[in-house]
Amino acid sequence: MRLTIDRTARRLSIEPDSADPVDTMIMRLLLIIRDAQHDSTWTRLKTCSNAECRWAYYDRSHAQKGKWCDMSGCGNRLKNRALRARRR
Ligand SMILES: [Zn+2]
Repeated sequence: MRLTIDRTARRLSIEPDSADPVDTMIMRLLLIIRDAQHDSTWTRLKTCSNAECRWAYYDRSHAQKGKWCDMSGCGNRLKNRALRARRR
């Protein structure tokens, strides 16, 4: 990990500097998670409610109540499945 101080912008930057590409990727991922938690976008990262899918997606809905990775795919599939179950 390398720390850089930008005195003009008054910012501290943290960058991965390992020779191991896996270590670098893990460090970058941890920094992205840290930044997302800091700017409150972390709670928008979700997994699809379709148990057969479970893709990770970014919930762009205004109310942040999205449940599916894709409404036209998983959303419609599960809503139709629930509708058929209620009709029986
Ligand atoms: Zn899905």
